[in-house]
Amino acid sequence: MLHKKGQSLGGLMNKQTIFSGIQPSGKLHIGNYLGALSNFVALQNSGSYNCFFCLVDYHSISEDYLPQEKKAMTLDLLANFLAAGLDPKKSSILLQSQMPEHTELAWIFNCITPVGELERMTQYKDKSQKQVKNINMGLFDYPVLMAADILAYKATLVPVGVDQKQHLELTNVIARKFNNRFGQFFEEVKPLWTNFPKVMDLKRPDKKMSKSEPNGCIFLDDSPEEIAKKLKQAVTATESGAKSAGEENLMLLLSHFGKADEISHFTQDQTTGKLKYSELKATLAKDISQYFTEFREKKEGFLAKPEYLAEVLGQGAAHARKVASQTLLEVKQKIGLL
Ligand code: ADP
Repeated sequence: MLHKKGQSLGGLMNKQTIFSGIQPSGKLHIGNYLGALSNFVALQNSGSYNCFFCLVDYHSISEDYLPQEKKAMTLDLLANFLAAGLDPKKSSILLQSQMPEHTELAWIFNCITPVGELERMTQYKDKSQKQVKNINMGLFDYPVLMAADILAYKATLVPVGVDQKQHLELTNVIARKFNNRFGQFFEEVKPLWTNFPKVMDLKRPDKKMSKSEPNGCIFLDDSPEEIAKKLKQAVTATESGAKSAGEENLMLLLSHFGKADEISHFTQDQTTGKLKYSELKATLAKDISQYFTEFREKKEGFLAKPEYLAEVLGQGAAHARKVASQTLLEVKQKIGLL
């Protein structure tokens, strides 16, 4: 048993519910860690919320992918969650495709969502441009499924990046439409923006670090050698002696991964114009490698136990189903199906 007997995973009824998801669509990088995953762990460990963290694999198949890679990506993401500190005793960790309640609710929401609202979504437009040969219905309907993911648990807080702002607003549009038509049921959902600034691409520091540009990423399971090599190649060139975006990015990483004396040393060097990039990069390489040593070991351990990973998802789904199936039952009653 993953959940201790007598301990209600859902916690106290008066706690607010948090829902967030990450797509299993590639390796996680330190931007994902600082901007999302570490935040999930902090929210979980605060003990103040009922937490649902979802591996949103149905979302991920709306983008180009290779079927033979998907399952491994899902298990890799789950191992990342667990190694970073998400704990199935404290949070529900669930796989979207094991939760038919999400897709059922999405269909019901489809029937109250104006097409015009979806046509406005900038992420749909961006992604359509990236995969012109695969502009599928799932890509278009993505925000409706996201609304269903969140509202199935009547979550009111959603930790996401600002790129999801428009989708969250749509979740509230759908919730209001539902309430107006069928009677008050869903509460307003609020974003919990992460307060960590965006980590930038090491090679192109004017762009955010993103797995779509692997050369500019430090991945969570990169070896110390890989981390050192990538940092060595990080772009720091300055124009007219001004602080460059690359330098700022390295200093941002130092502020999180560095030791106090290193931070003050390099900040002072920066102000006095004596900053040596090679020294900063070597320090960062050591610090980031050390920071993720335990993470890498834990992750390997989890990946070596696929039966445990399956158990985590099974229990997460069982707990989540209790909540989501009740929501769906009440929704079906409200819309006149039951
Ligand atoms: P990617 O751009 O690598 O595909 P995703 O869009 O899947 O990343 O983002 C997953 C989560 O990680 C989101 O909450 C997003 O806001 C956060 N995130 C992604 N890239 C960064 C970054 N460079 N800095 C900070 N947070 C990030």
